[in-house]
Amino acid sequence: MKKDEVPYGSDVSAGSYACADCGYKYSNQSKKSLPPCPAFDANSHPKRAWKILSGRGDAAQDPYPNGR
Ligand SMILES: [Zn+2]
Repeated sequence: MKKDEVPYGSDVSAGSYACADCGYKYSNQSKKSLPPCPAFDANSHPKRAWKILSGRGDAAQDPYPNGR
């Protein structure tokens, strides 16, 4: 697995993510763990991961520019 992909449930900082399997875009504005993709299906989602579009996987910096 590439390093810019994080599995479901990972603790991440705020940022934009896309489903590694179907490309669904998800904007995580509160710092918490990532949910499963809303379109999750075991057959079509073998990676069970989110691709990081912006922000850092598990760093506490890089505040979200449009936080307010
Ligand atoms: Zn998906």
